[in-house]
Amino acid sequence: MSDAYGFETLAIHAGQEPDAATGAVVPPIVQASTYKQDGVGGLRGGYEYSRSGNPTRTALEGCLAALEGGSRAVAFGSGLGAEDTLVRTVLKPGDHVVFPNDAYGGTHRLFNRLWSRWGISFDPVDLRDLDAVRAAVRPETALVWVETPSNPLLSVADIAGLAAIAHEQGALCLVDNTFASPYLQQPLSLGADVVVHSTTKYLGGHSDVVGGALVVTDPELGERLAFHQNASGSVPGPFDCWLVLRGARTLGVRMDRHCANAAKVVELLVEHPAVASVLYPGLPEHPGHEVAARQMRAFGGMVSFRLRGGEEAALRVCERAEVFTLGESLGGVESLIEHPGRMTHASVAGSQLEVPSDLVRLSVGIESVEDLLADLEQALA
Ligand SMILES: *Cc1c(COP(=O)(O)O)cnc(C)c1O
Repeated sequence: MSDAYGFETLAIHAGQEPDAATGAVVPPIVQASTYKQDGVGGLRGGYEYSRSGNPTRTALEGCLAALEGGSRAVAFGSGLGAEDTLVRTVLKPGDHVVFPNDAYGGTHRLFNRLWSRWGISFDPVDLRDLDAVRAAVRPETALVWVETPSNPLLSVADIAGLAAIAHEQGALCLVDNTFASPYLQQPLSLGADVVVHSTTKYLGGHSDVVGGALVVTDPELGERLAFHQNASGSVPGPFDCWLVLRGARTLGVRMDRHCANAAKVVELLVEHPAVASVLYPGLPEHPGHEVAARQMRAFGGMVSFRLRGGEEAALRVCERAEVFTLGESLGGVESLIEHPGRMTHASVAGSQLEVPSDLVRLSVGIESVEDLLADLEQALA
């Protein structure tokens, strides 16, 4: 499908031709592990076994590649599964990674607890400081890992600047685009080589599926990733692919509402006496505001804030909220509230990525905004 089409047109049509056999407008769930061959090696459409390829997965991958402006997407059974395949495809023992000092806890755990045992070292760096990043790059640096906006502190990193530093060294630049989604930010167009998604979040958008994806510009790297995925087996099932694809079709309209509701929530929090500070890239006083305004279409649906009353107050707000459901994850239509220190980021306690204990993170959903505001008012009272 031509990339001259707009984002929403691609979301609804890319990779999603009506079914050749029946004309079904929605690509069917091909719940099959194997495919009849027309004579030995006579494959229909290239499908032989569903670890290697499945039509429902192909449809999702075509859509995700178009939405990120990449040449190829590879879908996975989870975001961490995608990250694991990426690292084992592009790194080898002895390689070094520049890593954010504020990132998804599960990604840090992979580097810290798993890959470090296979001879891959990493240094957490404040990615907002390009000089610090330049200083952390070594001859063995093979990957600069970027997450922006970051989880849970919503700090913003300059993707074009970081990609340039990576490339000077001959390293790859990866961006975890889970928080922004391709609707708000397209890292490949800014010079990044790889985008990773937890499609569990905004792309799926309905808190009913776990999935992940890698998207790349270079077709040869795409081929290597698909080879590794087939060799190591971390594939998503057809129904999960179908759910992510169904979510992706409405990404644009959902993100517009997530952003609009988040802006109203931020207005309330900024004025509220119980709140010490609000972390949101849309605020002019946010240190990454200018970079975010340059590289993002809008500022997203994730909002974090710190309580004057410390950890006790943060835990109380989480417990008192009603429309905001207490739970991990993010990016679904329903609003969620959580305490990163005890929940999503418990695994980084004691590391350089430890998060403040008075921090609360919101995934602002697309409910009626007046109900969200009233709920926060009562929870903070
Ligand atoms: C959730 C998340 C991941 C991990 O994805 P899973 O689908 O849970 O494996 C990675 N990065 C970010 C920013 C996330 O929020």
